[in-house]
Order: sequence, then structure tokens, then C-alpha cells
Amino acid sequence: MSVITENLSVVKHRIKELSLMSGRADDAVKLIAVSKTRSIQEVQQTIGGGQCDFGENTIQDALTKIPELTEHNIDWHFIGHLQSKKSKHIPGNFKWLHSVDSLKLAQKLSAEMARHHENFELNCLLQVNVAEQTSKSGLAENEVILLLDELLQQKLPGLNWRGLMTIGVQGNKVQTGKAFSALRNLLNKCQRTSGLKDFDQLSMGMSSDYAIAIQEGSTMVRIGTAIFGDRK
Ligand SMILES: *Cc1c(COP(=O)(O)O)cnc(C)c1O
Repeated sequence: MSVITENLSVVKHRIKELSLMSGRADDAVKLIAVSKTRSIQEVQQTIGGGQCDFGENTIQDALTKIPELTEHNIDWHFIGHLQSKKSKHIPGNFKWLHSVDSLKLAQKLSAEMARHHENFELNCLLQVNVAEQTSKSGLAENEVILLLDELLQQKLPGLNWRGLMTIGVQGNKVQTGKAFSALRNLLNKCQRTSGLKDFDQLSMGMSSDYAIAIQEGSTMVRIGTAIFGDRK
């Protein structure tokens, strides 16, 4: 076993354990291996270890890998900030987008999905800056319900609204726990006001805080360093 496949197996085991400890099924939390800055060879090692979901945060980096790995059954997740002019790269490449933060971006994405005649809907999450960190992108908590309402009124074919995403507060476990719990409450509120049955995904938790995230109800964790080692 390589270091990467060993790390992967440790992380997967830990996620199962934490899910059970939080009173959920052992497969309640999806692991997204964050492969940004990593090579195709590194990604292939994780595929060999049984990993199917990968996350990238720039289009440029993602497009060096996605076309090279089409023989594998991979679900790609876009997890970084997306400028609307780059929306055209999403259909055909990504199944999930974790970072919708404006009506304009959603409109552009919907138009691109239609142009590409995709026969599936793009699974979309709204990115929320619950911890109100000035350095982070995402919607303010009080903007989320309003935007979701607007998105549903506009219909926007090709997009399937699935939940919320956030990034924790680096180096502060207390603040991070509060942010994750606030995101869970916000998800419940969105479910109530929108009536959407499958608006049920909480993308929260990275290498340093995924244990807290799973305790707080995360359904998808985005993990890079704990699998691939430190980024150069
Ligand atoms: C890089 C990144 C991650 C993974 O971070 P690690 O600390 O390496 O696990 C998760 N989410 C987003 C949005 C990222 O940009």
C-alpha cells in the first residue's frame, strides 16, 4: 500500500466511526477527496483505493485531470469560487457544484446546462459564509433564504438545489463548531420554507475539522491534506 492509499483507508474508517458516533448510518457521510494541485498519478492511487468522488477548486487545474481519467467512474465536485464566465466548463465535467453564491451565476449555469444538452441536472449547493470571515466568499446567512426563493421562482432548468456548503474557521474549533451548527439550522430552515424534499446536503468539514463537522451533521466532507499530504 502507498502512503496515499493508507491515508485514504484511515480517513474512510474514521468517517464511518464518527458517523456511527453521531447516531447515523456508517455510510451517511460522503468523502470527497480534494485533488487540487495533485498529479494524475496521485489521483489514480486514490482511485485504486476505491475512491470515486473528487473535488477541485479551479477550472484550470481540473481540466488537466478530468479528460485523462474518463475511463474511471468518477463524480467530480467543483468546490472553489466560480466566476460566471467560467460556467461553460461545468457541464460534461462536474456532477456537483458546491459554491453557488449569486443569481447571476445560477442563471449562467442553467443556460450552459441547456446549451450542452446534458441529460442530468447539476447538483448545486449554496455556499454560505456562516462564520462571517471577511476573507471567505459565500453568502451571508440572512441572504440564503431570499436567494433560494428567487432561484426557485426562476425555475432555472438543469439545476437541482441540494443543500448548503461552508468553510470552518481555521485554527478555532469553537467558532468552527458554531458555524457548522448554524449551517445545519439554516438547512432545516431552507427545507421548511422551500418545501424541497432533497435539499438535504451539508458540505462541511476539511482535514482539520471533519470530526466536528460530522458531529454537527455533515453529509459531505472535503478532504485533501489528510489523504495526499501537505500541499507544496
Ligand atoms: C482545499 C480545500 C479543501 C481541502 O482542504 P484540506 O485542508 O487539504 O483538507 C476543502 N474545501 C475547499 C473549499 C478547499 O478549497
